[in-house]
Amino acid sequence: MATYFITGANRGVGLELTRQAAAAGHYVYAVCRGPGKAHDLSKLAAANQDNIEIVPMDVTQANSIATAKARIGTNPIDVLINNAGVMGDDPQSPLDMDFDVLTRVLAVNTVAPLRVTKAFLPNLERAKGKVIVISSMMGSFTYGETSKMAYCTSKTAVNRLFHALAQDLKSKGVAVGILSPGWVRTDMGGPSATLTVETSVKGLLQQIAALDLKTSGSFGNYAGQALPW
Ligand code: NDP
Repeated sequence: MATYFITGANRGVGLELTRQAAAAGHYVYAVCRGPGKAHDLSKLAAANQDNIEIVPMDVTQANSIATAKARIGTNPIDVLINNAGVMGDDPQSPLDMDFDVLTRVLAVNTVAPLRVTKAFLPNLERAKGKVIVISSMMGSFTYGETSKMAYCTSKTAVNRLFHALAQDLKSKGVAVGILSPGWVRTDMGGPSATLTVETSVKGLLQQIAALDLKTSGSFGNYAGQALPW
């Protein structure tokens, strides 16, 4: 049994990651910023009291991260999944950018994954664990559209950070995965998305299981395909 720490666990990809990891017998710290409103997660946790623990944490707030860290203490974390993310409202094309949106999206999608990873690094090191960031094809330079540039840029930047992090964590025995879930039917992905959350998450968990120090720092999708930077 491994210990998972999953952010954005109250809905979408994060909720399904929690469900499938717990169903596989793992212990899950299900991390979300509003446990009082997290009805689906609360129900799931109530049915899995032995291995799902809800941890309140806003990934953008240093004091909130510190409170969560005090709660986890020195417990080892085998798999930390930075899943929480936001798309941000329009406009976000380069020539018509809402700068508050750009700042907010970068804070959640780029700054927070590194801050959270640094906070829990001692727990990851104890387990010689793995840290994942849920990224997107929209962070690839090959993605042509310019309308969602706050989001795209935030994912490009987090890819760069986690690629560098992989280099720096190799000697500590911690592997880093940069994974796209595909286009998934969640609040963010919308109803036209091609993948169910179950299919995407099944694939993501397979890729996480396969990740090791040799493949650390690579960018791939839920189906195991390498993606272009
Ligand atoms: P959803 O919009 O369904 O869920 C987003 C999650 O992130 C929610 O749990 C939300 O919590 C949480 N979150 C947002 N801001 C914060 C914060 N400050 N602190 C803590 N939690 C926060 O998105 P998905 O499940 O679809 O996306 C999950 C990840 O997958 C994201 O990183 C996204 O960029 C990525 N992705 C998704 C794709 C898709 O097609 N769905 C495609 C490619 C990548 P709350 O309910 O409190 O807002």
